[in-house]
Amino acid sequence: MSESVRVRFAPSPTGHLHIGGARTAIYNWAFARHHGGTFVLRIEDTDPERSTEENTQAIIRAMEWLGLDYDEGPGVDGPYGPYFQTQRAASYADALERLKASGSTYPCFCTSEALDAKREAARQQGGFAGYDRTCRGIEVEEAARRVAAGEPHVWRLKVPEDRADIAFCDAVRGDVRFPGDAVDDLVLVRTDGTATYNFAVAVDDTTMAITHVIRGDDHLSNTPKQILIYEALGEDVPVFAHLSMILGADGKRLSKRHGATSVEAYRDSGFLPEAVMNYLALLGWSLDGETTVFSRETLAESFSLDRVSRNPAIFDDEKLEWLNGVYIRDMSATELIDRIVPVLAEAGLITHEEAASRREWLLRLAPMVSERLKRLDEIVPMVAFLFSDSVEIEEGAREKVLEKEGSGLALDACRDALASVPSFDAETIEAALREVPERTGVKPKVAFQAVRVATTGSTVSPPLFESLELLGRERTLQRIDAARPLAAS
Ligand code: GLU
Repeated sequence: MSESVRVRFAPSPTGHLHIGGARTAIYNWAFARHHGGTFVLRIEDTDPERSTEENTQAIIRAMEWLGLDYDEGPGVDGPYGPYFQTQRAASYADALERLKASGSTYPCFCTSEALDAKREAARQQGGFAGYDRTCRGIEVEEAARRVAAGEPHVWRLKVPEDRADIAFCDAVRGDVRFPGDAVDDLVLVRTDGTATYNFAVAVDDTTMAITHVIRGDDHLSNTPKQILIYEALGEDVPVFAHLSMILGADGKRLSKRHGATSVEAYRDSGFLPEAVMNYLALLGWSLDGETTVFSRETLAESFSLDRVSRNPAIFDDEKLEWLNGVYIRDMSATELIDRIVPVLAEAGLITHEEAASRREWLLRLAPMVSERLKRLDEIVPMVAFLFSDSVEIEEGAREKVLEKEGSGLALDACRDALASVPSFDAETIEAALREVPERTGVKPKVAFQAVRVATTGSTVSPPLFESLELLGRERTLQRIDAARPLAAS
């Protein structure tokens, strides 16, 4: 395929970017990048009640976060703009004129009450519930006269009589066929002059020179209608690729019921954009059937529609978390700290200025936590003890550890050892503390856990000796002193 590949992601800004939409955007992006083509963002904001500027901005923000850069779209001008449907009325009007000129559309004066009544009657008889073509029979001059006289009307597509099956080869689903009579003379332009959804989409796709329409299979039933519109306009039909849906673990279509489904909600709960991108790419596409971890560059290099699965994909939060953990572990200390500081700052543990001046200290923290994190936000409870003046000891930890026989003795001995070590680094701390069990007869586990609980407040923490090093001698001794009265003798 040549550089002329043009694809679009066409969200309706009626909500934030959710997981399904993001996957569609990723596949379009990867397809465009793979072919050296153009990735267009088109905002389908024709539903005035539900479309908001806030949602548009949120979608753009989420795409930016994922690294889905677009070549044309809002804020990125190109030759096929504007990129908001509400600003493209002129091109819909122009397309309607072309259809009028070729006799492929006619005005329909049926009132909605009359249509409802007919539809209801047809339904009761189990017959065809589409438009019965009443106005198609009106003489052209007569119709023109009524239009000129201002009689309310819509414009309908004149679907060819006895249209053969509408068939196309979907790049994901293979041959798809709809019976020719499945589509009625659909409305293109409403009484108020606005374009209907299918008309706007088909006109936009042709006027934006879109070559491949990659979208969710909830739009499959719109496709025959859009094909008839392309044909009526005398335009080439793009290649369609309908992506199967994403299901939750319960086998039902992924929705809010399954928890966070917006991309920004994942960002806010500590997921990395590269992991989310990688994971979503895998929901219905595979690199080679085996490789699960790959970069965006590899995705762009390798993406092809023929490896997109027809089967629904199952969204698995645990797998996403696992993958996120893989990305966290693979990061350099510098990178991890760059990502973590905003999380710590957001939680109020550190300011950006403090983080800058304690950079070296933070770099020592990185290797202690990188193996333990699956999500960045898990860092907060894990390291909060390092940022406070004192700790509150969890009740369970007090009962299970401090109240155990020998813990007071161990704390005393550990305190002495720590007070007198020549330097307060992890290695020296470890050597000094390892002598305590021998000296006191307290089991190592009891002694170390007592120090851990006293200094971190909890029975689980990052590695003890490194934690003490970062805590510093003064705070370590203070915390042991504060915990001592709670310990068994
Ligand atoms: N605006 C539609 C949606 O958000 C997409 C239309 C299309 O891709 O053709 O579902």
